[in-house]
Amino acid sequence: MINKCFCGSDDTFEQCCKPIIDGTQSAPTAQALMRSRYSAYVVVASQYLINSTHISQRANYSKTDIEAWAKESHWQKLEIIDCKKGLLDDSVGEVEFKAYYKDSKNTFQIHHEKSVFKKENGDWFYVSGIIPAH
Ligand SMILES: [Zn+2]
Repeated sequence: MINKCFCGSDDTFEQCCKPIIDGTQSAPTAQALMRSRYSAYVVVASQYLINSTHISQRANYSKTDIEAWAKESHWQKLEIIDCKKGLLDDSVGEVEFKAYYKDSKNTFQIHHEKSVFKKENGDWFYVSGIIPAH
């Protein structure tokens, strides 16, 4: 039995998000970057989470905070709700997702976000996210 990638794809972590997190491969689409960022939370790759954030937004994030949140949360699964653009020929994209996790008090939480991504020099970056209205 092969363990599937944390992001919920049919590939293993080694074939799916790991090479993107390690920087040996670029995320081909906004969704692939989004998935790799979810997996990066699972494996606490905080430097990757900073690096894959668009340079204009990086000052808003602290590596320590990301690391703390990644570590104290028990990541359950990722659900991609919707994607707009973000494909090979696009330079902007939008991904709506739900990340299921248990917080430090072991309470079940869903992080629902619509994220905006931008491609620069062939690499996708996370720009910002909004919490969609329910
Ligand atoms: Zn993956």
